Amino acid sequence: MSRRYHLAVMSGLFVLLFSLGCATTKSEPVPVLVKRTQMQMGTLVTITSVASDRRVAQDAASAGFQEIHRLEALLSTWIATSELSQVNAAAGRDSTVLSRDTMKVLESSLEMARLTEGGFNILVGPAVEAWSVLDRQQIPSEAVLQAVRPLTDLRSLHLNATERAAYLAKPGMRVDVGGIGKGFAADMAVAAMQKAGATAGVVALSGDIRTFGRLPGGTKFPFGIRHPRREDAVLAFIDLQDEAISTAGDYERYFERDGVRYHHILDPVTLQPARDCQSVTVVARDGLTADGLDTGIFVMGRERGLALVERLPGVGAVIVDRDGNVWVSSYLKGRVRMNDGIE
Ligand code: ADP
Ligand code: MG
Repeated sequence: MSRRYHLAVMSGLFVLLFSLGCATTKSEPVPVLVKRTQMQMGTLVTITSVASDRRVAQDAASAGFQEIHRLEALLSTWIATSELSQVNAAAGRDSTVLSRDTMKVLESSLEMARLTEGGFNILVGPAVEAWSVLDRQQIPSEAVLQAVRPLTDLRSLHLNATERAAYLAKPGMRVDVGGIGKGFAADMAVAAMQKAGATAGVVALSGDIRTFGRLPGGTKFPFGIRHPRREDAVLAFIDLQDEAISTAGDYERYFERDGVRYHHILDPVTLQPARDCQSVTVVARDGLTADGLDTGIFVMGRERGLALVERLPGVGAVIVDRDGNVWVSSYLKGRVRMNDGIE
């Protein structure tokens, strides 16, 4: 069992580089940077906020955290009163009227499912539970998986845009936006920070990260992509400005049985853990796209995943395949620096 890592994309690096960017000169006022961490959406959320003065930077960070808190109350299936819990509780019975934000996440999830040819599927929850990777560490029988299969059929999720309502056609079906919700929350938190006066910043929900603007010293925000097989090692470096980055990996939650790794991202076709990648990192303009695509492409596998990324404007990927080979899509060529100390 691996130690649980909250930061798929390592933030330690940025601490170091930020402190260089913060140096003040006497002649001109330099923007102030504050960095705060809280536990939200079941993970560590770190917000970096840059503004002309400390008060504004602090208030903008608070606005970001508050926005994530608001979205958690709508989207979390761990909260019984959330809108998605209501949708799930009414499965096979009733439709549920939703807020614009929840509706947007569901509509985008269906769009991601279409783009990734079914690799991304927000109805895999009952199958994820059958595997229950963290609790039981048991391999479910084929019969158990077959029993939940009808519950994962996306055609049974009905969205009514006019009435802003969602309906799950069969009892036992469940929506789980764990594979896309954190990226959306990062986008919304950034919007709240900008409204509160931040000129630049980073919202990082574990490995789902959105940036805007540049560091006080004028440089882009630097990130390290985690090595999927070496603890605490950085596979590659990349700088971002006004972009999001998200990583899906098989190393965060898994168990091993007879030398086979069982992890938490399931292929909706086989209902088995997806086998073709060790990690998929996606860079996109927004967090919703980066987060949805990393999970979906992880399922599609290296070949189909890269082909998809090449078709999407403003989207790039770094894929570590099952043998540990690293593939960089053309959008990121020349921007990703491999950590030569490692391989
Ligand atoms: P995390 O940061 O939690 O690792 P990921 O973006 O890697 O997030 O998504 C993994 C989560 O998405 C799982 O915990 C599960 O809830 C859900 N999930 C698993 N398989 C799929 C899939 N094929 N499509 C959509 N969501 C999935
Ligand atoms: Mg994801």
